[in-house]
Amino acid sequence: MTLRIFVFLLGSIVGSFLNVCIHRMPLEESVVWPRSHCPKCKKRIPGYDNIPFLSYILLGGRCRFCKERISLRYPLVELITAVMFLLFFINYGLSYEFIIYILFGSGLIIATFVDIKHRIIPDEISIGGIVLGFILNSLRGFNLRPFSYEPAYMVDSLLGIVIGGGIIWLTGFLFDLVYFKLLKKPPIQGETESMGGGDVKLLAAIGAFLGWKAAILTFFIAPFLGAAVGVVNLLFKKDHTIPYGPFLSAGAIISLFYADKIIGLLFFRY
Ligand SMILES: [Zn+2]
Repeated sequence: MTLRIFVFLLGSIVGSFLNVCIHRMPLEESVVWPRSHCPKCKKRIPGYDNIPFLSYILLGGRCRFCKERISLRYPLVELITAVMFLLFFINYGLSYEFIIYILFGSGLIIATFVDIKHRIIPDEISIGGIVLGFILNSLRGFNLRPFSYEPAYMVDSLLGIVIGGGIIWLTGFLFDLVYFKLLKKPPIQGETESMGGGDVKLLAAIGAFLGWKAAILTFFIAPFLGAAVGVVNLLFKKDHTIPYGPFLSAGAIISLFYADKIIGLLFFRY
């Protein structure tokens, strides 16, 4: 129980760092330097005002100095990260999988919130995720006693990158071909590409971490989540574009936990 509380608190501290990444990565700023400061009055945020959840509540959601409202995103990201750490810990214990999945989940959280705000997914996350996922999974194949190497994880990761990236690229390519070239429809808000390159790279990264089956599953789950939110969005905000990264991320987490069950149900294998 105490270990679970520790993992939860560790997650909230990591979440606090993810907030810095979400704020700075799209601005091409360093995520380690300088120290956090208020975006309005530029005053440095003292350590005691940087405690996850608690500071936000104690400060009433405002900057100590200029009283500028602090985005609810900050405590939200801290909470999501803390809950994610706890979930992975409960399911995988302190294991190599736990390390892989918290790194993976942290990347998804950054991708999600940056995509919501800026409609881009930073290359540090997508391309970085492809490389990191491939390396971490490749390392899983090593067996030290007796020394041997099982390439299955590495192959699965590689297929995940190719199939995950390929499937979404191909969908976008075919859609654009039919919609813009054959049907000669006008560009949507100046765009003639329905699928951004960021989404292609993100699903490739998801495949690198979770393998090809989960990548395909994510590809099929994401549109359902997207459609549900898209309808709500159209009803209330009248904005026709929605970021796709959050749905790929949510689809990936669902795949991570339920891939075997869903695939089993689909193919009647119990
Ligand atoms: Zn301020």
